[in-house]
Amino acid sequence: MPTKTDFKAWRVEEKDGRYVGSEQTLNTSDLPDGEILIRVSHSSLNYKDALSASGNKGVTRTFPHTPGIDAAGEVVESSSPDISAGSKVIVTGYDLGMNTDGGFGEYIRVPAGWCVPMPAGWDARKAMIYGTAGLTAGLCVQKLLTMGANPSQGPVAVSGASGAVGSVTVELLAKLGFEVVAISGKSDHADDLKALGATEVVGRDTLAEEKKPLVKPAFGNAVDTVGGTPLAELLKQIKPGGSVSCCGLVAGPQLQTTVLPFILRGVNLLGVDSVEISLTEKQSVWDKFSGEWACPKTEASAKDIGRSGLEPALQAFLKGASAGKIVLDHS
Ligand code: NDP
Repeated sequence: MPTKTDFKAWRVEEKDGRYVGSEQTLNTSDLPDGEILIRVSHSSLNYKDALSASGNKGVTRTFPHTPGIDAAGEVVESSSPDISAGSKVIVTGYDLGMNTDGGFGEYIRVPAGWCVPMPAGWDARKAMIYGTAGLTAGLCVQKLLTMGANPSQGPVAVSGASGAVGSVTVELLAKLGFEVVAISGKSDHADDLKALGATEVVGRDTLAEEKKPLVKPAFGNAVDTVGGTPLAELLKQIKPGGSVSCCGLVAGPQLQTTVLPFILRGVNLLGVDSVEISLTEKQSVWDKFSGEWACPKTEASAKDIGRSGLEPALQAFLKGASAGKIVLDHS
């Protein structure tokens, strides 16, 4: 008989056209079908959670809904031969927290094919310090390296540098020996970004709209987490043969560019998706972060909140005011 357990979840409801989140008591029998029931101890906060919680129908179609696009915890029930009860797992992406109740609840039920085994030596909190944002940072860096990016090509730019994806990217690239130029709208976070390993911190005006289709190249490579005009401007500033990994859209989903960076400088625009890629690809990045890619400064500076802290923290994402990694601790 499947377990029927009451649990707490931060649930978003639509009330008079507004989307309001509050703590509610649910039962595991309310969760969708799936092979694996997980007691979630930690989740992490991401821009997409803020979109879901504010009623963005591109992320979540129907409410009430429990956001949380990632989760880590212990398997309570399993009907899969590959995953045993009592094992610790990480779930990120696929439909979690979008239209499947997510990690802002103390339990989730998901397909076995969404679960990555916890890397050796890690616990759930450690996994969620990195979370979806860390995974995405790792994928962005991995793509640059696959294209042959190396420190001798010149500085690597990171846009949205103080954000969840950006901050992990800054530390990882610095650790790999790159000279990192952090592009950030938060001048009061310059010291934090330098502490993560940025050599230089410059304002967002570095990527303000410029009429010329190409400008003097300043960066060997780049990771762009914001999209829109800043990405278009970044492409004009990449040295011949360099690459830009692109994963985000906080500055807008449109990309207005000419082909000139591509055909005159051989610049590569590399798309990064952390959601629908295979579990094997996800696992290889988790394994790296639990080994040679460990980011101790990110680990030391992550902030923990409880469910009561979700509302203001998610609002900060929508205002572009969030910084660093935020972990939701259900205990
Ligand atoms: P955050 O809000 O933590 O970080 C985004 C950062 O971008 C902000 O902190 C801010 O940094 C900067 N920023 C915010 N608004 C603007 C703006 N209007 N113009 C320029 N810069 C801005 O979000 P996340 O790090 O969680 O996510 C970043 C992006 O990556 C999001 O679009 C998210 O959806 C996407 N993403 C994509 C994934 C994928 O699989 N492709 C997975 C995970 C995230 P600063 O003040 O330092 O400039």
